[in-house]
Amino acid sequence: LDARRLQTTARFAEQKLDALIISYGPNVRYLTGYTGSNGLLLLFVGGQGVLFTDPRYAIQAARETTCKVKVVRGPLLVAAAKAIAAKRLKRAGFEQARLSWEGHAMLSKALARKAVLEPVGGWIEEQRMVKSSEEIEAIRRSVLLNSQAYVNTMKNVRPGVRESELAAELEYQMRRLGAEKPAFETIVASGERTALPHAHPTANRISSNDLLLVDMGASLEGYSSDMTRMACLGQPAAKLKRMYKAVLEAQLAAKDAVRENVTAARVDAAARKILKGYGLDQAFVHSTGHGLGLEIHELPRLGKRDKTRLRAGMAVTIEPGVYVEGLGGIRIEDTVLVTRNGCEVLTPTPKELLSL
Ligand code: ZN
Ligand code: ZN
Repeated sequence: LDARRLQTTARFAEQKLDALIISYGPNVRYLTGYTGSNGLLLLFVGGQGVLFTDPRYAIQAARETTCKVKVVRGPLLVAAAKAIAAKRLKRAGFEQARLSWEGHAMLSKALARKAVLEPVGGWIEEQRMVKSSEEIEAIRRSVLLNSQAYVNTMKNVRPGVRESELAAELEYQMRRLGAEKPAFETIVASGERTALPHAHPTANRISSNDLLLVDMGASLEGYSSDMTRMACLGQPAAKLKRMYKAVLEAQLAAKDAVRENVTAARVDAAARKILKGYGLDQAFVHSTGHGLGLEIHELPRLGKRDKTRLRAGMAVTIEPGVYVEGLGGIRIEDTVLVTRNGCEVLTPTPKELLSL
């Protein structure tokens, strides 16, 4: 983590910063190891940092981080401003996408013109895109756990089960296997509700010949996994079978396009091209994937306009989908690791439509 902080401070010269205020939880965790809900990192030239927190987290912070810990009462932003003024620093950066208007106002007031506040883009988020070998192993374990929870649950699915019961069982299995929590609210949709890309589970019962969509992820050691699989009790309609074939082909084409140095947009285009061949490109209403790690959605975004060049060590999802109102939707999602010559699919679960 010392190396991570040094990598961040190496960019200070770009904006002539003397310090950087990191207030966004996942970024604080990434740079310090601290996992509490209230924390702020004040980072100085050279990589040293002070972690501010409140008395509830005093013991935890001291155990989790090698940074100096300062336990304060009241707003952490005010404490950070006082430290900046005391050290007579002139330019302090803040995370422009993460600090609220109110937070900025509080900070400026506490600084009382003793230092200039400088908005900084997503430095830490960019840094987080390429994972270390420890992070990759954590993601690998999270992905395997998630798939195991899926297998354990699906072997017992019977017609008549409610979407909400299935979601509860999936999350229960995750916890049983050691996950801290689901990485996001588990999506279970059946029948024509599969056309809602982010459907919340309802009390609907899954009946015969219903298509079933499960999108689930676990959080293990802080790291996320993300997978979407489809199943059917009986036989899906011919139209849906064709849609499934198209999405599977698109998913494999996008996966095959992943490689170091290829742009994120190229991977997205590979999926879109296949769906266009089936006349389904208009039904593909989201991007092909996203990075994941400490958060379920991280950079890069594998979308039409993202020019980010993929690098070995990025963990991303590949998840094309098509959605037709009144009929249903199909999405197939894996978590993959970008390598120099291609990618490694981390998700072990078969991608064929699961017949229940
Ligand atoms: Zn997902
Ligand atoms: Zn996803």
